[in-house]
Amino acid sequence: MSSISPRNYQIGVCFTCQLCMYCGLDLTLNNCNCDKSIKPTKKNRTKEVANFRNLTYKPAIVHEKIKNTLSNSNQKYGYKLDIELLYNCTLCSAFIPSSPTDGTSLPSTPLQMEFKLRMSIKQNKQVLPFVIISFTLDNPNFINFRDKLESYICEQVGLVYRNEYTLAYKSHSESGAGTLLGNEEAFDEFLKDYQSIVAGNKKVVIIVILRELSKKRSHENEVSEQESNDESENEAYQNTKSKKQLKKHIKKCIPKEATLNENEALVGSR
Ligand SMILES: [Zn+2]
Ligand SMILES: [Zn+2]
Repeated sequence: MSSISPRNYQIGVCFTCQLCMYCGLDLTLNNCNCDKSIKPTKKNRTKEVANFRNLTYKPAIVHEKIKNTLSNSNQKYGYKLDIELLYNCTLCSAFIPSSPTDGTSLPSTPLQMEFKLRMSIKQNKQVLPFVIISFTLDNPNFINFRDKLESYICEQVGLVYRNEYTLAYKSHSESGAGTLLGNEEAFDEFLKDYQSIVAGNKKVVIIVILRELSKKRSHENEVSEQESNDESENEAYQNTKSKKQLKKHIKKCIPKEATLNENEALVGSR
């Protein structure tokens, strides 16, 4: 077996097996004339290679098995890439976890992830019973995760907009209020925690705290509380002001008749 010569990684080639994503040739020991600097897209597919995967490799959240596989390929083909940095690469269909053709099977990966969750909705200090939800997301991120959850929340309590609730998560056995899940960074942490909680055979609980609609005041942060205080003060001020000015106002209204249009003036005079 001849040794594999080191090379730079090219986006048009499978990172893990050196399959050309255009002619389907294994470039481990061969070469082809395709332009492998072109990123594979759905529009430039050939009949030799119909499927591909773009992977945005995030070292912080990537599944350990993928990281190991990529790290091995990095050494095998001499790409000399720093595996701790974020980058994009292409994978052939053999790498797709659902496909059994790849010897290194990957049961759960960030490319596609199945979530099984208990959802707990808190509304007006009441806690509704847990709802069991499960769904699968391609390339999970905070936005598509929240959108999916939102559809379940709406099923339970009616139409709710994303500024009307706060999300948090915790393990079912854990006490306390859980960890706030409000942005992409928190979601990356959530993915890691989700996997370790599930690995420990425990349930992951998503807590949905609906803002109280009866009172507009939010307890979420001081800024909005400050604002609503200001609002109510303003209202109070407006009220006393308007009472004092009520008489003036009525007087002021009377001459307004002069500004009525003809028809209204006629109606008024009858
Ligand atoms: Zn491949
Ligand atoms: Zn080729």
